[in-house]
Amino acid sequence: MSKTYKIAVLPGDGIGVEIVPQGIKALDAVGAKLGLHFEYNEALIGGAAIDATGKALPDETLQMALASDAVFFGAVGGPKWDSLQPASRRPETGGLFPLRKALKAYANLRPVVVFDALTSASCLKQEAIDGGLDILFVRELTGGIYFGQPKERREINGEHVAIDTCVYSVSEIERISHMAFKQAARRRGRVHSVDKANVMETSRLWREVVTEVGKRYPDIELTHILADNCGMQLLRNPRQFDVILADNLFGDLLTDEASMLAGSLGMLPSASIGDEHGGLYEPIHGSAPDIAGRDIANPIATILTAAMLLRYACDCPDGSVMVRNAVEAVLNEGCRTGDIASSGDKVVSCNEMGDLIAQAITNSEL
Ligand code: NAD
Repeated sequence: MSKTYKIAVLPGDGIGVEIVPQGIKALDAVGAKLGLHFEYNEALIGGAAIDATGKALPDETLQMALASDAVFFGAVGGPKWDSLQPASRRPETGGLFPLRKALKAYANLRPVVVFDALTSASCLKQEAIDGGLDILFVRELTGGIYFGQPKERREINGEHVAIDTCVYSVSEIERISHMAFKQAARRRGRVHSVDKANVMETSRLWREVVTEVGKRYPDIELTHILADNCGMQLLRNPRQFDVILADNLFGDLLTDEASMLAGSLGMLPSASIGDEHGGLYEPIHGSAPDIAGRDIANPIATILTAAMLLRYACDCPDGSVMVRNAVEAVLNEGCRTGDIASSGDKVVSCNEMGDLIAQAITNSEL
């Protein structure tokens, strides 16, 4: 008997409610093709949850997420809630971050793939990305400066100061390093580990531990690179990278930069996974309040996120490839949402893009 996967569906705020249904269309199309069954349970998170319950992560949502095989997430936040005090009440800090923490999702996998059809949408010169681009970021997600304590305001010598604390333990660095080396072993066998070992103590420990873990993967080529240099090299010669391993802060910044290689934030998926739960699957962009409610958001990041859910939560690489190929086929036909359109392209809505990709999955050869 085939397994039914319990998916907690958390659309969130803004374009979250528009893009998540497009990802579900893709999952259903793959399910029908490959005989996978999904049971979807929707719950509130972020601003929508604050309005309804006063909490960005209601207990009911958390329990549902913990009891599911995977969490399929849209985006949270918006001007209505982003200044709430204390900060721990806000959609991201009070909703998404504790959810990642509760799921023990310590590794954020963020592929940056430039599809051939979209090389002109990239902000880089054509020659830098000709022949395609495929980088996998492995970002540490539950430690570092976003979580370290103390994190506060105080008076020092009569002056108001703000303090964030960056903390990393050996075990936190070890487990994310193993994840990066294992991913590299399935790819082109190279890891660039990002740090600021020239100025930060946490980075010096990061470098030591990554080096030690790397000795257990003799076939993987390990290079240490300073975060500022990595930012520059991503624009100068992105093809040198295979897997980029980074801590929470550097990974956050560098993945947004790398998103522009792919043409739009709306193209990039991610999976946040750990060892104890099926994981949290989320596009890397936010709730895009500037375009929300107009059916113009690009759902491809979310649809590719569904592909990652198939690979990691359902152990279904065939389904994952099917989704990716369907996205590529629709792009090759010249269909684009506004954020990635050039002159001559057929501009379609968020919903239409979701339908086209689901149809391409249905039409695809097994
Ligand atoms: P954003 O990612 O929402 O948007 C940045 C820009 O990219 C905007 O111009 C937006 O229109 C565009 N964009 C983003 N996704 C798109 C898509 N799928 N299709 C087309 N265009 C897209 O970042 P922001 O504007 O800095 O933040 C908006 C809100 O989202 C804030 O409340 C922020 O806190 C929140 N946020 C949430 C997450 C998350 O839930 N994971 C991540 C980042 C930001």
